[in-house]
Amino acid sequence: MSLPQFKLLRPRTLDEALSLLAKHNNARIVAGGTDLIPSMRQKLFEPQHVMDIRNIAELKGIRQQGSGVEIGALTSLTTIEHSDLLRRRYPVLTEAAATVASPLLRNMGTIGGNICLDTRCLWYNQSLTWRKGCGFCIKKDGDLCHVAPGGSKCWAAFSGDTPPALLCLNAEIEIANADGLKRMPLRDFYTNDGVAYRNLQPDELVTRVFLPESSADYRGVYRKLRVRGSIDYPLAGIAVVMKRSNGHIADARVAVTAVNPAPLLVKGASELLAGKVVDEALAEAVGNLAGKTAKPLTTSALTPEYRREMIRVFTKRAVLAAATN
Ligand SMILES: Cc1cc2nc3c(=O)[nH]c(=O)nc-3n(C[C@H](O)[C@H](O)[C@H](O)COP(=O)(O)OP(=O)(O)OC[C@H]3O[C@@H](n4cnc5c(N)ncnc54)[C@H](O)[C@@H]3O)c2cc1C
Ligand code: SF4
Repeated sequence: MSLPQFKLLRPRTLDEALSLLAKHNNARIVAGGTDLIPSMRQKLFEPQHVMDIRNIAELKGIRQQGSGVEIGALTSLTTIEHSDLLRRRYPVLTEAAATVASPLLRNMGTIGGNICLDTRCLWYNQSLTWRKGCGFCIKKDGDLCHVAPGGSKCWAAFSGDTPPALLCLNAEIEIANADGLKRMPLRDFYTNDGVAYRNLQPDELVTRVFLPESSADYRGVYRKLRVRGSIDYPLAGIAVVMKRSNGHIADARVAVTAVNPAPLLVKGASELLAGKVVDEALAEAVGNLAGKTAKPLTTSALTPEYRREMIRVFTKRAVLAAATN
């Protein structure tokens, strides 16, 4: 499958990148390219301009910022996986990053690309010929959904591994355009709609991720379901963070991925866990809550029932592991 024709833009500074985005309406950003390039080969995106941001040095690296940590959007997943600072203070993030794809893809793939990852579906991540044969669908070129016929919503699943960990850490992201910078909690970035899945305008770029001091030193666990352990996207994923005091839970958060069009914090999990001592029954109750948050449909090779059940099981195991590790 060949790439469509496009003009390549290669800015060297953030300012240059932002003015190019303002000038070329709908230019597509490429960072590591590990998701965008295969998608362009499948003609899911046929932009006139592609902007390669890899030369923008100021968007790379992990820095202590005040008492929290700042991660540039172009920082590779390998760098995150092997960061001593992150492993010590925000272990759920290094664990989630280490499960993305394969070592080669983590060398190229960036945290910004992982946050901005397109949603995925069996009926969408296919060649043009395949999709044409099926009459296309709402997400691209069509007007019906093969997964939920009769509805008008796309249920393609957000399938990034680091965002549930970042949600548990109360991470914020910085977004830039030619007019300036804004900062927002990551939980406000996602829309839970498979098509317009993120709050990002065509002239905007994600520049940084911030991890607050208040989430540092939490125990963290990430568990994921995938077909091939060595390389695949998650078909269900769960992150848990927990802070304990005198054996009781002082604070905890749980988030799911790959089972909805957005990564989501599990509502009620923090309240359920607060002040308690973890045991099998409590871990199972949190698992049941996570199972209710998960709304998987037939967007992947595994059945929705199995994926929801695995969210329940993985959450229970992750809560027990976070309470003992
Ligand atoms: C075989 C295979 C297996 C994979 N398995 C996994 C997996 O297990 N888990 C997982 O999470 N991912 C997986 N991926 C997807 C991908 O490798 C990772 O998500 C990676 O982090 C994407 O980062 P990237 O820099 O390569 O993104 P790119 O491909 O460059 O970009 C991805 C999207 O984000 C946008 N974008 C990138 N950076 C920015 C920015 N700074 N601001 C605004 N928009 C931006 C792009 O325009 C594009 O829409 C897999 C990919 C392949 C090919
Ligand atoms: S969920 Fe429906 S509309 Fe969305 S990509 Fe799949 S088939 Fe298409």
